[in-house]
Amino acid sequence: MQGVDLHTHSNISDGTMTPELLVHAAIEKGIRTLALTDHDSMDGLMQAEEVAKNQPIQIISGVEISSQWSRPTTNKSYGVHIVALNMQNPEPLQRLLIEQKKVRAQRSKQICDLLIPLINQDIYADVLAKVDGEPDRVTRTHIAKTLVEKGIVHRAQQAFDKYIKEGKKAYVKFDGLGLQETIQVIHESQGFAVLAHPTRYDLSATNIRYLVEIFAQYGGDAIELPPSIESASTRQMVDRMIEQFGLKVSVGSDFHGDNMPWIKLGNIPRVKEGQVGIWESFK
Ligand code: AMP
Ligand code: MN
Ligand code: MN
Ligand code: MN
Repeated sequence: MQGVDLHTHSNISDGTMTPELLVHAAIEKGIRTLALTDHDSMDGLMQAEEVAKNQPIQIISGVEISSQWSRPTTNKSYGVHIVALNMQNPEPLQRLLIEQKKVRAQRSKQICDLLIPLINQDIYADVLAKVDGEPDRVTRTHIAKTLVEKGIVHRAQQAFDKYIKEGKKAYVKFDGLGLQETIQVIHESQGFAVLAHPTRYDLSATNIRYLVEIFAQYGGDAIELPPSIESASTRQMVDRMIEQFGLKVSVGSDFHGDNMPWIKLGNIPRVKEGQVGIWESFK
């Protein structure tokens, strides 16, 4: 499957390219079907569509939603990213995103407040400067980058490992909409719900299975295939779940520009014989 990338970020969230630049870069790479999937925002869509006019590329509306799920018998909830694609009627989803953006704005301030006693300074103003002063666009990537620039850590990954990932002192859970409601709203918007990067949640194989099972039960449409750098056994596990639960597949690079320079735009895993691409359902 060449020429498709259904998971990318612009600088509306934690990518580094503007939506315009991203579309130009995608055209140069020979991408014909591109979804812009910023975190909890569809604000780059119009810019992307404008640039794509009369160009050999189709822009698919998209957004990566910070959702959460739990196992029926436990109270613990886990964060999960749901990529919504190809909405024909964006209004229900836009209403959901207003709430998600409020959560994101509050959480970014909370994280910075928790960091103060740990690093002896308040970096909130510098974090905000990275997103044109718009708190509802702040991601942990921006906070990590600020910690690097302040010399508090050497690399962004260290900021996660030391301070802001789950279990660390400045971690704040994203209290987003539950998985079932998220899928429901995506469908009300006549879009498709894709479980993003199923093997990147720090979940045991058993819990990944539970997640995929309830995702399918709630009517989720497709699973994103793991990047080709992941092991063959990981891929086989995902392939088995896709088959067992009768789900379609999605492909995306999760491109973030220079924030994650090792991820290349348009670099997507191979689709296995018999797997059905969600893009075949696009209107
Ligand atoms: P947020 O939505 O604010 O929680 O930020 C999530 C983003 O931070 C993800 O999309 C990744 O780009 C990045 N991220 C999350 N976890 C890690 C990690 N452990 N190491 C590096 N980057 C991460
Ligand atoms: Mn990101
Ligand atoms: Mn994600
Ligand atoms: Mn992403």
